[in-house]
Amino acid sequence: MVRRNQMKNFKFDIEKAKKINEKINAVLEFTTVEGNKEGEYYSTPFLVKDNIQVLGTKNTCGSKILENYNSTYTATAVRKLLNAGFTVVGKTNLDEFAMGGSNENSAFGPVKNPWDLERIPGGSSGGSAAAVAAKMVPFALGSDTGGSVRQPASFCGIVGYKPTYGAISRYGLSAFASSLDQIGVLANNVENAAIVVETMSGKDEKDSTSLDIKWDLTSQLNNKLEKLKVAVPKEVFELDGIDEDVLNKFKENIETLKKNGVEIEEINIPHLKYTVSIYYIIAPSEASSNLSRYDGMRYGLRDEKESLKETYMQTRDSGFGIEVKRRIFMGAFTLSSAYYDAYFAKAAKIRNLLNQDFEKAFEKYDAILTPTSPTLPPKIGELKSPLQYYLMDLFTIPANMIGAPAISIPAGKINDLPFGIHLISKPLNDAKLLRIAKQFE
Ligand code: GLN
Repeated sequence: MVRRNQMKNFKFDIEKAKKINEKINAVLEFTTVEGNKEGEYYSTPFLVKDNIQVLGTKNTCGSKILENYNSTYTATAVRKLLNAGFTVVGKTNLDEFAMGGSNENSAFGPVKNPWDLERIPGGSSGGSAAAVAAKMVPFALGSDTGGSVRQPASFCGIVGYKPTYGAISRYGLSAFASSLDQIGVLANNVENAAIVVETMSGKDEKDSTSLDIKWDLTSQLNNKLEKLKVAVPKEVFELDGIDEDVLNKFKENIETLKKNGVEIEEINIPHLKYTVSIYYIIAPSEASSNLSRYDGMRYGLRDEKESLKETYMQTRDSGFGIEVKRRIFMGAFTLSSAYYDAYFAKAAKIRNLLNQDFEKAFEKYDAILTPTSPTLPPKIGELKSPLQYYLMDLFTIPANMIGAPAISIPAGKINDLPFGIHLISKPLNDAKLLRIAKQFE
């Protein structure tokens, strides 16, 4: 296959990468961890989001609390890539603990969008997205809890693919919201994304949620699918907060696909309107529990005070940034015994209903199509309220809620800024999703 060779021939130019990085702040650390010399992809370079452990690199999670923390082992996903010969060339900037959609929440400064340096690259895998868009590497790893691989891919004009939940081991990925987290890939095209995920996928004894699968995502990739049936949720045109430019470009895309023989119909996803609300209950709840481990005793920063309790409090106060604190507060509240039924239990029920909406849709359609993000990337510092950012996850969150595979692919430009479309398919239907994406690419 031609593209395989293209990725294999990619030469990493560290001097050039460092120069680019001075402008975009995408990479926190350039370090080389060489892959297996016998591997098929020996020396093909990639970058890893700095919340995935790679022995020989730091793992800051974009946080002051882990500023000086060194990885103590290598994540299974990265280990598999190293075995295949791929070579780690550095770690990428991110929103602190992957909480955010803009990269403005990093303790190490915002990442800049290579298309327009005044704008955000999206997030939380914004460093990975910007580095691939700036052509430093052919792909980079990210993590996706509510859209963090797909939304920055869309804002930077590249491919972002989050596979079915459990397809890739989470061992070595710093936990944010464990029932939603998944490692994904940001790549320069669909084919490379497929190769990388195929290599990383499969059962890992160290992650009990990993699936016992042996995936072939590449051999059928170029075979065109006939009689494709795709659904567009009516809500895309009805809900508030979706930019007119985005809607118009999306409609243009629909027309082109129809002309190319794709059958597209509108459907209702009645619980779509609740996705942001339930995500911002479920994700912070899980995060508040996962982040309790950063207590100044076990890892990273310790801000020593008189008593143990004061040390805990001081360490967390000086180590965590504002957005992480906000999520911990929200999560501790929604999990508290007085409010558990009112918030968490209710959100879990709606998550089930959303799942049913999608199951029904997948009985009839091969994929669900939306814009990846309801807006274009805003300027750094432009949005003032966290709510404005939370609303950006409207179309990407459902895939995490139902564990389904989803992908963002470039679909044109609006005022010189990249625009991406987003496809969700049935869980475990990754091979088909990628074939559809390849066809739409
Ligand atoms: N933007 C979402 C959030 O802030 C998604 C983050 C993610 O997928 N890691 O939580």
